[in-house]
Amino acid sequence: MKKIILCKFGEIALKGANRAHFEKLLKVELKKRLRNYGRFKIYSAQSTVYIEPLSEDCDMDSAYRAAKNTFGISAIQMALEVPKDMEQIIAAVRTDFMPYIAECKTFKVEAKRSDKKFPYKSPEICKLIGGAILDACHGKRKVDVHSPEVCVRVEIRDFAAYICAGQERAVGGMPQGSNGKGLLLLSGGIDSPVAGYQMAKRGVKIEALHFESFPYTSERAKEKVLDLAKKLACRTGDINVHIISLTHIQEVLRDTIEEDYFTLILRRFMMRLAMKVAKQYYCDAVITGESIGQVASQTMQALVVTDIISEIPVFRPLIGNDKEDIIKIAREIDTFETSVLPYEDCCTVFTPRHPKTRPELAKVEAEESKLDIESLTEEAFATLETVTVTGEE
Ligand code: ATP
Ligand code: MG
Repeated sequence: MKKIILCKFGEIALKGANRAHFEKLLKVELKKRLRNYGRFKIYSAQSTVYIEPLSEDCDMDSAYRAAKNTFGISAIQMALEVPKDMEQIIAAVRTDFMPYIAECKTFKVEAKRSDKKFPYKSPEICKLIGGAILDACHGKRKVDVHSPEVCVRVEIRDFAAYICAGQERAVGGMPQGSNGKGLLLLSGGIDSPVAGYQMAKRGVKIEALHFESFPYTSERAKEKVLDLAKKLACRTGDINVHIISLTHIQEVLRDTIEEDYFTLILRRFMMRLAMKVAKQYYCDAVITGESIGQVASQTMQALVVTDIISEIPVFRPLIGNDKEDIIKIAREIDTFETSVLPYEDCCTVFTPRHPKTRPELAKVEAEESKLDIESLTEEAFATLETVTVTGEE
């Protein structure tokens, strides 16, 4: 009997005239993600995407897991596809379908008949299927219409009937690429991968930028960031990670400006460099993992002073989150364990003892006037190298 995966659209179902465009993006993304698990036919009808294996050797369990994590799908279930014939449906329920409900003690049956020409009405279908299950399991299961452990659904559609048990929540969100491209400032910490994930979930294609400070930061610290990007890419699809060295800028800042302004001015340089990368790679916005008040450079005033450099919107999806909430998501997306590995970040090199928490823009600009901003920025930008990472569990 043929297994098939049914995926329900999330918000796409609410889109009017643009719906076809969103559906197309979702199907393209699914095709990419399932490419290693066999050949599949992927099509949509009635707010559902069907993933149908085209050969016996398709890895359906892996395909199911990959689809469950694909943005744009809100619920998912494995189903059996059966010819639209009541006798064949009952035979399938008594045999191939039984493992689907192996764990449960109580169930109910729901039937939906999109094909109104099917000779049995929904209540009759429920009765016949319920009877077949009771019979096949020799009294081990009972019907409970109010709070069953499993709801067995039979759907009679245009070309076939589908039998499935239970429906799981999937990741939700919007299909990849349906909402522009954002440049994620990716450190090795806990927050920025989560911020990237949140935006990607809303359909934003992620391009990443990491700043290193070799030899003050190690080669291993860079590897860690690439590992994080790989984890993130399991959810978002391939990511280009751009890496820029801040070493020279940091040394000049250390030797030139008042220590308390070091981090702030460094962050303004990060933003200037982000503008250049965003322009070159057509990103519409910058994304950071900042959360208000978390550290000295994330007070309202500090954010204002950094923000002013940016010519495009800076999205900070975690701005109102507590660290605990962020950690919870980091665990869910499997980045936490990598993030807490103890390698240094460029932000922790030459950190001031008393960073300014309420900086005044005029004072910051006065400190910066001691520097040749343009050539420092150009010089750092020239160190840019790019690595493309693919998802790795
Ligand atoms: P994270 O846990 O993501 O490192 P954090 O709490 O340590 O964040 P900061 O180090 O102040 O906070 O950084 C704030 C944000 O600035 C990060 O979330 C990230 O978006 C960006 N950022 C910090 N360091 C780097 C870096 N080395 N390369 C790229 N972006 C960075
Ligand atoms: Mg950090």
